[in-house]
Amino acid sequence: MSDLNKLGLAEARDALRAGDVTSVELTESCLKAIDDADALNAFVHKTPEIALERAKAADERIKGGDAPAMCGLPIGIKDLFCTKGVPSQAASKILDGFKPEYESTVSQQLADAGAVMLGKLNMDEFAMGSSNETSTYGNAVSPWRRGNDDAQLTPGGSSGGSASAVSADLCLAATGTDTGGSIRQPAAFVGITGIKPTYGRCSRWGIVAFASSLDQAGPMTKNVRDAAIMLEAMCGHDPKDSTSTELAVPNFEAMLTGDIKGKKIGIPKEYRMDGMPAEIEKLWADGAAMLKDAGAEIVDISLPHTKYALPAYYVIAPAEASSNLARYDGVRYGRRAQLAQGDGITEMYEKTRAEGFGHEVQRRVMIGTYVLSAGFYDAYYNRARRVRTLIKKDFEDVFAAGIDAILTPTTPSASFGLGEMTEADPVQMYLNDVFTVTVNLAGLPGISVPAGLDKQGLPLGLQLIGRPWDEGDLLNTAYALENAAGFVAKPAKWW
Ligand code: GLN
Repeated sequence: MSDLNKLGLAEARDALRAGDVTSVELTESCLKAIDDADALNAFVHKTPEIALERAKAADERIKGGDAPAMCGLPIGIKDLFCTKGVPSQAASKILDGFKPEYESTVSQQLADAGAVMLGKLNMDEFAMGSSNETSTYGNAVSPWRRGNDDAQLTPGGSSGGSASAVSADLCLAATGTDTGGSIRQPAAFVGITGIKPTYGRCSRWGIVAFASSLDQAGPMTKNVRDAAIMLEAMCGHDPKDSTSTELAVPNFEAMLTGDIKGKKIGIPKEYRMDGMPAEIEKLWADGAAMLKDAGAEIVDISLPHTKYALPAYYVIAPAEASSNLARYDGVRYGRRAQLAQGDGITEMYEKTRAEGFGHEVQRRVMIGTYVLSAGFYDAYYNRARRVRTLIKKDFEDVFAAGIDAILTPTTPSASFGLGEMTEADPVQMYLNDVFTVTVNLAGLPGISVPAGLDKQGLPLGLQLIGRPWDEGDLLNTAYALENAAGFVAKPAKWW
């Protein structure tokens, strides 16, 4: 078999179990693809020794007839996950040199299920961003290009390295995290699948915290079946995370029948935005038609508080971030600034944080401390929390009225050029999240499925939002959409 790195998880698993290929062969193929793809700046810490050691162990397990779900499958891990003894710096300068003594629960579960870690993936600093341009490692680059134009494009963010790596076949799949869209938006930009599960499905333990009430881990994969396989391995109750649920984890893959007859799919009118490109409108309408052809009923619905979601998110997320990031003080983790004679502890904090945090992170810390300050707490933070409750209730109402899933575009545009948005007002960048943040605010599962190309040949994604804890049903609807959309495009190799 050649080009083993191009396989998906399910295909590779079946080939491993059939004895057609070994994990060492799969892993070597990915390691070579990674070494050939430095231009994408997706893998920022490569771990070939760990990978080959785990691949050998996986081959032994498979030989012994003990092959759990992810056994022998090479994947990448977003730099936000703490991985024992391996640099884990959330793409921040302030965590330079930090090698955790512990492993995040999710990456541990993947390792226990036999997955092979190839290395750590680029991302926006502390997962704040939509273009992977705030990383201390430099931009991750999308493998896609607009027609014959060789301008470099963003793979999206914050899980930009994960998106780029999966799309360019550097690994079979990757972990991502999603606080406001960071799995779904990059997945849409590069033509892959990404699911953010219900808040509480995956343990957050050992994942560097951005906004704790919104953060969730999830898989970024080449197709919906692979998302089902990897999600099952990632989620489950963890006593170390008090917000992780005790619910049993279903066999998600077994729920992929593709049968969605009689399902009610809601189309929320508030997601039809002024100035939305005609191509996105069309993609959305085509997606609804495909689900209808597959037997679903399409229902117009209203989520009346949608327009307040982005402002509420950009109060709540920075508030929580400013509190979570207070721990980076030059004492406990990573980097400490060079101090001058006579500097005291205050100067150490100030200098360390001033040189360790990038601009976007500093902006969020300032917004967060402002909205939490005594004089403004009620005006901003408490009001945003009330809006959040209303947004959650909007969803509860439509689900109570019998809607099974909600269909929206994932993003308001296709991928854009690196540097094209950095000069703009930061709010322009924040608008990327307009269709995704509601899902985090309400704690719901959401998935992005590649559904078409724009006229420049760039991927576009559709988002499906599901009932809480109903990822199995959501994945099945996504599977039906995937089958109908038949997206097979791949980026032409230039790197
Ligand atoms: N782009 C959003 C932000 O910058 C979401 C990030 C995320 O989901 N981690 O906050």
